[in-house]
Amino acid sequence: MALAFTSSSAIHASTSSSSYQQPKVSQLGTFQPLDRAQILSTALNSRRRLAMKPLNAEPKRNDSIVPSAATIMAPEVIEKADEEDFEKLAKELQNASPLEIMDKALEKFGDDIAIAFSGAEDVALIEYAHLTGRPFRVFSLDTGRLNPETYQLFDTVEKHYGIRIEYMFPDSVEVQALVRSKGLFSFYEDGHQECCRVRKVRPLRRALKGLRAWITGQRKDQSPGTRSEIPVVQVDPSFEGLDGGAGSLVKWNPVANVDGSDIWNFLRAMNVPVNSLHSQGYVSIGCEPCTRPVLPGQHEREGRWWWEDAKAKECGLHKGNIKDESVNGTVQTNGTATVADIFDTKDIVTLSKPGVENLLKLEDRREPWLVVLYAPWCQFCQAMEGSYVELAEKLAGSGVKVGKFRADGEQKAFAQQELQLGSFPTILFFPKHTSKPIKYPSEKRDVDSLLAFVNALR
Ligand code: SF4
Repeated sequence: MALAFTSSSAIHASTSSSSYQQPKVSQLGTFQPLDRAQILSTALNSRRRLAMKPLNAEPKRNDSIVPSAATIMAPEVIEKADEEDFEKLAKELQNASPLEIMDKALEKFGDDIAIAFSGAEDVALIEYAHLTGRPFRVFSLDTGRLNPETYQLFDTVEKHYGIRIEYMFPDSVEVQALVRSKGLFSFYEDGHQECCRVRKVRPLRRALKGLRAWITGQRKDQSPGTRSEIPVVQVDPSFEGLDGGAGSLVKWNPVANVDGSDIWNFLRAMNVPVNSLHSQGYVSIGCEPCTRPVLPGQHEREGRWWWEDAKAKECGLHKGNIKDESVNGTVQTNGTATVADIFDTKDIVTLSKPGVENLLKLEDRREPWLVVLYAPWCQFCQAMEGSYVELAEKLAGSGVKVGKFRADGEQKAFAQQELQLGSFPTILFFPKHTSKPIKYPSEKRDVDSLLAFVNALR
């Protein structure tokens, strides 16, 4: 497989060795669930073939994958991603195994699809692709800020699978401008978006402009704030593919429904090389300055951009996961209808804005308060309703008052300015003797975790 880049450095493979043929629309629409035994048998046969000739063994590492070489390889077949009903396909594949989904993705898109590899446990995607026995491509974003262990894994993976990872680099002029004007660690001060945009999102955008589909390792359990609804396949809501425009790129998430623990069982069972940072407590791995180990029981996303709000923890690569929560007083999200209020129980005090403003004045605070800032339409607020109600029952008569403040609509600006609201739900503890409320820092919202927080501060 010889690789070439367009003048805008988009990834494009000029392979002709693959047996892949671009399917017609009619074929795309007639999905037949794959027989797993058949797939595994194919995979085993493929492994035997691979022993003779490794997948993606070509090209050799050479200048053809350096973006400055501007060779344009024209696509042969132009079929927009939105010509197939991918919502329907996602439903059909909802219960399929990652291997089946991967096989379907590679079958449909051949050389026009590539796996996005971050250097963490998404190495499982490469193993699944390998097991399908089909040719596959892998690209990675080298931000220039990765851990040495991640670079080491890249090298190990290339050797293990006999592949060449197609690295994408940030624009040097943009990096230079950012670092010269704001320093090397500006993300700690004004958020990670700007740096991620330069070092990750724009290189990714360039990469995707050379593809019709990509494969990610996103899982629902990775981030309750942003990834709880990802389908196994979707028209990419954020990026464009080779043909340009909305609907020109398809995003496959073969492990969307898989738990992190099952990914690890798979990696161990298949003896897949993994990032050595995992053995040092790292779960989610990104750039070195923005990744840290987590403690047992901590959510993996707490190891990423920990100084920022949990809801916004997407680097821009999957920003389509973040829903629009702009509100105007009533209850809505994504066009859904009005929903009933939540946290309705005698043990939870409904606070108005003047009530909260009183709480903010220490002299008016006679007892400590725990207050949730919520929006009734927010699925994460709904998900914690049971535990918050139970907590209120437990705290009734204990000297700690439990309240709620609906902070969407016209209250949102006030809550953002005065109450540290970043996303819903935000939980605040107003100590009896301290003026400033303390924000609950974790995404774990079970009764015991919340109670431990209260007891540590009361
Ligand atoms: Fe920059 Fe951190 Fe984003 Fe990496 S993860 S691109 S270092 S802000």
